[in-house]
Amino acid sequence: MEHVDILIIGQGPAGLSAAIYTARAGMNTLILGCPPKIAGDYDIDNYFGFTETITGKELIERGRAQAARFGAEIRCDRVLGIHQTESGSFLAKTENEEIEAAALILATGVSRIRPGISNLSEYEGKGVSYCVSCDGFFVRGKQVVVVGEGNFAANQALELLQYTPNVSVCTQGKKSAMNGEFRNRLKEHGIDVIHDSITSLAGADGLEKAILESGRELPAQGLFVAMGEASSNDFAYSLGLIRNAQFIDTDRDQRTNIPGVFAAGDCVGRFLQISVAVGEGALAGRGAISHVKERRRASLDKETR
Ligand SMILES: Cc1cc2nc3c(=O)[nH]c(=O)nc-3n(C[C@H](O)[C@H](O)[C@H](O)COP(=O)(O)OP(=O)(O)OC[C@H]3O[C@@H](n4cnc5c(N)ncnc54)[C@H](O)[C@@H]3O)c2cc1C
Repeated sequence: MEHVDILIIGQGPAGLSAAIYTARAGMNTLILGCPPKIAGDYDIDNYFGFTETITGKELIERGRAQAARFGAEIRCDRVLGIHQTESGSFLAKTENEEIEAAALILATGVSRIRPGISNLSEYEGKGVSYCVSCDGFFVRGKQVVVVGEGNFAANQALELLQYTPNVSVCTQGKKSAMNGEFRNRLKEHGIDVIHDSITSLAGADGLEKAILESGRELPAQGLFVAMGEASSNDFAYSLGLIRNAQFIDTDRDQRTNIPGVFAAGDCVGRFLQISVAVGEGALAGRGAISHVKERRRASLDKETR
């Protein structure tokens, strides 16, 4: 497994700005994430220092080149889940590998995709969940459906097998975006992939079934939402981060309630602008550098005692 000092999730303005600080301070820095939406053909007119309009694509390319110049590594990979280890480090599972980091910066932007199930919120906490590692235990031996079309959903379904063999995946009518490896693993474990849409949920005292558009009823005492790619919210659930609606709560230095985890940019939900993301990224980078240094000092003290 690969070990890094600082893992940054997101290669948008917040993640790249954080990496410029951490890599420049000599920290072994890895950024995971693919080009953000703003790296398209969008005109940016309000970013400091550019007298002429610059495209989002060029701005992000410049940020990438600058972070790389100081030694940050950037990989277009999707993080499926993150957990904290007993030693206090962070373990991220991606579509391709596992990475351990001493400090973590979440810079994932905002992207929670809602599944469009009419009465979903009525069942939140009564069977509907967004986090297998938080709530999988409550569905031991029960019938469970994961809602999502990609590798994130497939991974959640496979993780649920620790708790119950009765797992299926519903793509909400979307074309499956799971890669071959995940498709094979679902098949091996007898996990059905249903290409219909769940329109509503039913159950008197908690979730009992999901009603599909076709009229079919799917017995389900647990429903895990895992649409698109894992978002900061999903990471917040599994790490136990305090949130404010769909945003991650941080202090003025971008520290979350978990030491070693920082969040910056749109996922924190202040003023959703590049300049703010860049500033918050710098603060998160500074915090992560201090955290790694403190861990190094603590481990040296332990060795010399
Ligand atoms: C069309 C458009 C036009 C805009 N115009 C302007 C403008 O003119 N001026 C301005 O200041 N702001 C503008 N904004 C807003 C600006 O783009 C955002 O505020 C800014 O990009 C936020 O940066 P961020 O780094 O927080 O997140 P983002 O730029 O959204 O980057 C998020 C990153 O996280 C990654 N990510 C998410 N989930 C995962 C995962 N599970 N695994 C790995 N990586 C993950 C994504 O791939 C991406 O790299 C615009 C936004 C849009 C959409």
